[in-house]
Amino acid sequence: MWVHFWGGARSVTGTMHMLTIRGRHVLIDCGLMQGRRKEAFEINRNLPFQAGDVDAVLLTHAHIDHSGNLPSLVRAGFRGHIYATSATRDLASLMLLDSAHIQEQDVAYVNKRRLRQGKRPFEPLYTQTDVMAVLPLFRSVEYGCPFEVVPGLVAQFIDAGHILGSASLVLDVNENGHSFRVLFSGDIGRKGLPILRDPQTAEQVDFLVMESTYGDRLHETPDQAKESLCQAAATTYQRGGKLLIPCFAVGRTQEIIYRLNQLWEESRLPHMDVFVDSPLAANATEIFRMHPECFDEEMLDLMLREHDRDPFGFSRLRYVRSVEASKELNTLAEPAIIISASGMCEAGRILHHLKNNIEDPRTMILFVGFQAENTLGRKLLDGQNPVPILGEHFRVRAEVRRADGYSAHADQAELVSWAQRIHRASSLRAIFLVHGEEPSCQALAQALGERIQGARIEIPYRGDKVELVP
Ligand SMILES: [Zn+2]
Repeated sequence: MWVHFWGGARSVTGTMHMLTIRGRHVLIDCGLMQGRRKEAFEINRNLPFQAGDVDAVLLTHAHIDHSGNLPSLVRAGFRGHIYATSATRDLASLMLLDSAHIQEQDVAYVNKRRLRQGKRPFEPLYTQTDVMAVLPLFRSVEYGCPFEVVPGLVAQFIDAGHILGSASLVLDVNENGHSFRVLFSGDIGRKGLPILRDPQTAEQVDFLVMESTYGDRLHETPDQAKESLCQAAATTYQRGGKLLIPCFAVGRTQEIIYRLNQLWEESRLPHMDVFVDSPLAANATEIFRMHPECFDEEMLDLMLREHDRDPFGFSRLRYVRSVEASKELNTLAEPAIIISASGMCEAGRILHHLKNNIEDPRTMILFVGFQAENTLGRKLLDGQNPVPILGEHFRVRAEVRRADGYSAHADQAELVSWAQRIHRASSLRAIFLVHGEEPSCQALAQALGERIQGARIEIPYRGDKVELVP
């Protein structure tokens, strides 16, 4: 079997790996590449293979960097099935429509100016109509249920503990009468995070393809992260400003809400309103409520024992859906917390809140997620000033902070211990590190090399392919 690394290789966006077995092609994830607008558009639009030749897609989870280019794949001729857990299918349906909507809106916004300047208008990468062609191709398979993808390839989803529905993929390959097992980590979560079960491992794995987003870093503990959030709210409240939290609408937003809810119940949240300004986040929260099969025991206990309590809502929390209500937040005089997408400030309503508040020194921008290279979020974290927002430049007078502990990704110690657990129950022959920027991959390769004997460790480049043989 061949594995062709087509994205998320020495980078964290646009994850896409192709398996070729007995002449059939299976994609693992089909993520949206983000970064410099023009370059990203070209890579997303021009797939490096014939989409019509792909027999199936295995989707590890709904995050856009793993699912967001499915519409381009279908538009280019893919007609097979897309296998995912039912929670991933539900979240991905929402997120893909949202992704298309944002792209249509952003392009319309930019084109207004381009047309005034006599320039050729841009076109969106895909539209909501393109997404509607993707949704019927989904086939849901629950955790722990092996299924045949193509002849010679049986797949099984196991818990990855990263976002609702997220999975690692156990692949049992049979080729030329020989069998072996490959484990694709997908994105790996952390032990002890609220809401979801912890990441699982598998036994008798021969080859491991694993993520390395935070391969060079240790996170704050979840408790420290909760304190950072508490302090950010208190500081912003005291100076009468807005606390802007750019946030993935799915997963991170629900975790932040869960924590704010806790702080509220502990009477530690200042008396400021909390707005979740994202229709996607509001809808995603409904999907969370519909998938208790993904919850850990603590969350199930909470729902069973205290069924009048809503872990995703409290009296000062408002979900903002309409554009009008979102615009009204611009005129808000009181201190407030605004949680909005996208998490890396590349698109969506957060851009308008940044535009309106970034030049006000009372504002605080709190990052609670990973910021990829070349994104606005990264520029702000790196201290770039001024920064471009929606085609204009703004002075950064707001305070910019980061709370690492909210990561839904395992840190170096957690990644190493996850791989060690697999190695103890297997005899790993090779580990391929993906989904990490260069320093993270290198640091993780070194840490793994010191603790895992006998397995070769490789960091593929985009476009590399390797043959896995029994
Ligand atoms: Zn993810």
